[in-house]
Amino acid sequence: MPDTQTCKCLIGGSWVEGKTDRYSQVCNPSTGETIANVPNCTPEDVDRTVAAAVKAFPAWRDTPVVDRAHLMFRFHALLLKHADEIARIVSREHGKTLNESKASMHRGIEMVEFACGLPSLIPGEILQNIAPNVDSETLRHPLGVVAGITPFNFPAMVPLWMYPIAMTCGNCFILKPSPRVPLSALRIAELLVEAGVPEGVFSVLHGDKTVVDALLNHPQIKAISFVGSTPVARSIYQTGTANGKRVQAAGGAKNHLIIMPDADVDSTARALLGSAFGCAGERCMAGSLAVPVGGIADDVVGRVCELAGAMRVGRTDEGQDIDMGPVITREHLGRVREHVDNAQAQGASIALDGRATKIADAADGFFIGPTVVDRVTTEMGISRDEVFGPVLAVSRVKTLEEAIALGDKCEYGNGAVIFTQSGRAAREFKMRFNAGMIGVNVGVPAPMAWFPFTGWNMSFFGDLHIQGKEGMMFYTQQRMTMTRWPEPKSQDKVDPVWRTGKS
Ligand code: NAD
Repeated sequence: MPDTQTCKCLIGGSWVEGKTDRYSQVCNPSTGETIANVPNCTPEDVDRTVAAAVKAFPAWRDTPVVDRAHLMFRFHALLLKHADEIARIVSREHGKTLNESKASMHRGIEMVEFACGLPSLIPGEILQNIAPNVDSETLRHPLGVVAGITPFNFPAMVPLWMYPIAMTCGNCFILKPSPRVPLSALRIAELLVEAGVPEGVFSVLHGDKTVVDALLNHPQIKAISFVGSTPVARSIYQTGTANGKRVQAAGGAKNHLIIMPDADVDSTARALLGSAFGCAGERCMAGSLAVPVGGIADDVVGRVCELAGAMRVGRTDEGQDIDMGPVITREHLGRVREHVDNAQAQGASIALDGRATKIADAADGFFIGPTVVDRVTTEMGISRDEVFGPVLAVSRVKTLEEAIALGDKCEYGNGAVIFTQSGRAAREFKMRFNAGMIGVNVGVPAPMAWFPFTGWNMSFFGDLHIQGKEGMMFYTQQRMTMTRWPEPKSQDKVDPVWRTGKS
């Protein structure tokens, strides 16, 4: 780490202090203790960072793409070497279990592997003789300086969704990680420096709205990638595009899990467990509304409660062997509890109640155990709102049509899953459900690096999604060139040597 007490910024290739006297605290959610301070950077910090990036851009743009990919190969080797060490930082600053942190590191490392292969994806296209003696071709060019703003819930992985692709495409990248969890992103940034990233090609700034606004309003930033909650995603998309920038902004979610009467109860319940309570429910692809169809509801809810009730909840900050950690902050814990309280007051039944969970060696940690809220109706906020905690709501329906109609009422559209043994039901669901990422007997259909993260509706603002080929398209602009070399005219005095063979 550059400094575990006060986080530094990476500007122009140097680790420096932010020019600010405002700091936020990074908290260990397992204990409630402050573990670092993070500066709230200023517009002045943004100006000097962008200036360094603008200066670095021409040389980086002109560096052959294979050499840019070589940087990624070196970075990849360092990430593999340090993956477990970084996973421990993620568990400490965020509260994921060590296994979850390790899995998220592997997903992030896959993004670097994808970037290593960009030289075979980035070439343009050519159609020769599109008209007599005329060839037409496209080439891809980097945009210039681009920025990425990331959420708290995958501190190491989500930044890696962005900059390996952006930089291998030839852009200079400015990362603004979540101020709640900057430590793993900073350790990874150190590895990128060790891998040999040129000065100014990669930068890190910290802070919240002030620094984000300065990035959004800076005329020399060409594109913004954002991942976070829907209200912020929407506002970033609106401001960024109004300022003439490309924006891809991924937002929140409410993901439905449809369980058909023919589903296998035990394997479905286990998949629901991972989907709803994995990472303490703090995943944009978390299954948060189970929709059992017909008579399977009692069996599935019963089995989920049985399995979830046996989950070991506890501290994650020292690599403890447990099943679920805390949520991110005390305020967020309060909001998660409030969702459950409100649903109960509106008539839902609490099939499993984690609200009173206490951890013996962590009285000040932000813990809530797995919670199952049954017999939820469409009038209840918990059926619509993103809870972002270990809470599975259950809305019982009679038919697949009813389940699909629930999806149509949802303002989000990230993921949705069906559990069934019927190919016909799965196909119907896949073709009609109102969400951009579909799972068939897969609890969390989050795409791997080679596929785009295709959220719909209020889960995504923009055109080109994050990850995969769309990620490469987002970070490049195409140039079409049309070329004509006419036949020599008869009055031309000398036939070119290459045509006659005579000198
Ligand atoms: P958030 O929107 O509060 O913060 C995201 C980023 O924006 C952070 O870097 C934060 O510092 C910054 N920010 C916060 N408020 C801002 C403001 N008013 N103006 C400018 N910038 C601001 O999100 P979060 O709580 O960190 O993350 C959780 C959210 O992210 C959930 O809604 C989750 O669904 C979503 N998420 C979505 C995806 C996806 O792919 N769709 C992936 C991961 C997380």
